[in-house]
Amino acid sequence: MISQKMQDLAKNGSAIRAMFEEGKKMAAQFGKDNVYDFSLGNPCTPTPDSVRTAAIDLLNNTDTLTLHGYMSNAGYEDVREAVAKSINSRFGMDYTAANLVMCVGAGGALNVALKTVINRGDEIVLQAPYFGEYNNYINNFDGVRVVAEPNYDDFSLNLPDIEKKIGLKTKAVIINSPNNPTGAVYSEEQIKELADLLDRKQKEYGHEIYLISDEPYREIVYDGHTVPYLPKYYANTFVGYSYSKSLSLPGERIGFLVINSAMTDFEEVAQAASTANRILGYVNAPSLFQKVIGRCVDETTDISLYKRNLAVLYDELTRDGYQMVKPQGTFYMFPKSPVADERIFTEAAKKYHILIVPGFTFACPGYFRLAFCVSEKTVDGSLEGFRSLAKDFGMI
Ligand code: PLP
Repeated sequence: MISQKMQDLAKNGSAIRAMFEEGKKMAAQFGKDNVYDFSLGNPCTPTPDSVRTAAIDLLNNTDTLTLHGYMSNAGYEDVREAVAKSINSRFGMDYTAANLVMCVGAGGALNVALKTVINRGDEIVLQAPYFGEYNNYINNFDGVRVVAEPNYDDFSLNLPDIEKKIGLKTKAVIINSPNNPTGAVYSEEQIKELADLLDRKQKEYGHEIYLISDEPYREIVYDGHTVPYLPKYYANTFVGYSYSKSLSLPGERIGFLVINSAMTDFEEVAQAASTANRILGYVNAPSLFQKVIGRCVDETTDISLYKRNLAVLYDELTRDGYQMVKPQGTFYMFPKSPVADERIFTEAAKKYHILIVPGFTFACPGYFRLAFCVSEKTVDGSLEGFRSLAKDFGMI
């Protein structure tokens, strides 16, 4: 008999994944070109050539035992050094390999961070809307999620409510900027206020409150927005990073966790994180792609397609009466549903072969998410359906 926990989890599977599977079925039925699947954040910009060249060269010219063998649980020393150097030059830090654990994507990095700090019953504060997998990650370690209300005006940080949600049992606050699903980028001013708040709360409660910054979309920003580097503002910060989006490599499962040098008991925490990577069963991040990253640390994909898709969808959808906050980053937008139960709307969209994700998945009902990391053709082909939907729901 499967565990109680898994019975519940298996029953309430991911709505995003369910939509993705439905998209595949619809594509088989109606033809791929007639289905507009905005469900999954699976990047469609090509991986840079340099990544492929590096992988091929490594495969052709490295002895296989070295390339495919185990290494330290934190990852190859030279790769971690290369990543640290890149972070130092971009954000003015003083990191070395010791600050980094190479991980199985951002998902792996978050699980490592949470395993490192959570005791059963510890509270983890999140702000809605948020990436729904956080629920599972926190649950993996018997943490308790405490959710702050969205800031509906612009989806920026709701600092007054975050403050209310922090208490004696708070072990960490997770933030994600640029944000999935809203596309919001938190300003430096807000980050400073958050850091001050956490410093105050640490003193008040007499223990560390960690800030876990989940940053797989750091490089995907528009209109000159920049993403502050959180360890500069708050000592007890972990950063989870991933190459899934910035290099279009989600299936390769490669990313890293940063343990900030100024963190309390830095060495103990870094050692614990490396052990967590091992005992969670990851053992280490995939070896070939660690080595590829070592050669391509400063590369990113060309995001011009996302820019173009954002411009088209934002203009067309707002013209059709959809209300939304313009995304500042990521490849998601999070418009308001014309009806309170957004599932009625996302179901209705299927009539026009449009697949979008209901907001309840992100703890924010009344909205829906649209992932525009798709081809121009998919975006352009969907516009008529979105217009018909707007008419069906009396928006135009
Ligand atoms: N965090 C956020 C906010 C995400 O959107 C995702 C993936 O979509 C992840 C973490 C997991 O990323 P990875 O594929 O690197 O594990």
